[in-house]
Amino acid sequence: MDKLKGKTVLITGGTSGIGLASAKLFLNEGARVAITGRDPEGLAAAQQALGPDALVIRSDVRDLDAIDAAILQVQERFDRLDVLFVNAGVAKASPLATVTESHYDELAEINLKGAFFTIQKALPILSRPASIIVTTSISGRIATPHFSLYGATKAALSSLVKSLSLVLAESGIRINAICPGPVATPIFDRFGLPEDMLKAKKQEIEVKSPMKRFGSPDEIARIALVLASDDSSYMTGEEIVVDGGMSLT
Ligand code: NAD
Repeated sequence: MDKLKGKTVLITGGTSGIGLASAKLFLNEGARVAITGRDPEGLAAAQQALGPDALVIRSDVRDLDAIDAAILQVQERFDRLDVLFVNAGVAKASPLATVTESHYDELAEINLKGAFFTIQKALPILSRPASIIVTTSISGRIATPHFSLYGATKAALSSLVKSLSLVLAESGIRINAICPGPVATPIFDRFGLPEDMLKAKKQEIEVKSPMKRFGSPDEIARIALVLASDDSSYMTGEEIVVDGGMSLT
C-alpha cells in the first residue's frame, strides 16, 4: 500500500486510460500526484475521479510554454518531483499515400517532441534519485503498416530512453520505458474510424493476441508502479514489454 509513500509524481496524459489508472494506483500507494491533459471535460472528470488532493493541470505538450507552466505548478505545490511519467500520446492511422503535413506534425509533436521537452523541462525540479517512465508501444518494435508514423514516433522514444539513461545515470535519475501492447483505453475511439471498422479492428486484435484479449489500463499501471518505486532502483535504460505476448506473434 505504501510503495510510493512520500514521493511526488507528475503524469502527463493522466486524464484517461493508462495515465488515469496509474494516477489512481499511485495515489493509493501513498504518492502525491499531479496529472496533465488537454481537454477541459477530461480534466474535470479526472479531478472528480482522483479527488481534491490530486493536482490536475491543463497543459498541451505541443506547447513548450505550457510545459514550463505545468512544471512551475508542480514545483509550487510539491517543491520537487520524484517520479515523472511521460505518458501523453496519440495514435492515428497513417496510410502512406494520404498522410498530410499536419497529420505528421501532430504525431511527432505530441509523441516525441512533447516527451523530449517534458523531460528536459522537468530536470531542474527532479530529485536525486528520481525515476522517469516513458510510455512507448509495441508499434515501435513490430511492423505496423497502417500505423507507420505512430510506430516511428514510439521507436524514437525507445531510442531516447536508452541514450538519456546514460546521460542521467550518474546524477541518480533513472529512465525506463513501459511498452504496452493493445490496452482497452479510449485511444482506439480517437482513431476517427467509422464504428464498424473500429469494431472489426478490435476483433482482429483480440484474435491475433495470444491471450485473446486486450490488456487493462490497470495491468499497465501495476508495471509502471514497479518502475516508479524503489523496487527498480538498479534499472535504467530498459523497456518493459507488457503486451500479453502480442509482439511475439
Ligand atoms: P488515452 O487516449 O486514454 O490517453 C491519452 C492521454 O494523453 C489523455 O490523458 C490525453 O488527454 C493525453 N494527451 C493527448 N494529447 C495530448 C497533448 N497534446 N497534450 C497533453 N496531453 C495529451 O490513451 P492511452 O491508451 O491511455 O494512451 C497513453 C499512452 O499509452 C500513449 O502514449 C499511447 O501512445 C500509449 N500506448 C497505448 C496503447 C493502447 O493500446 N491503449 C498501446 C501502446 C501504447
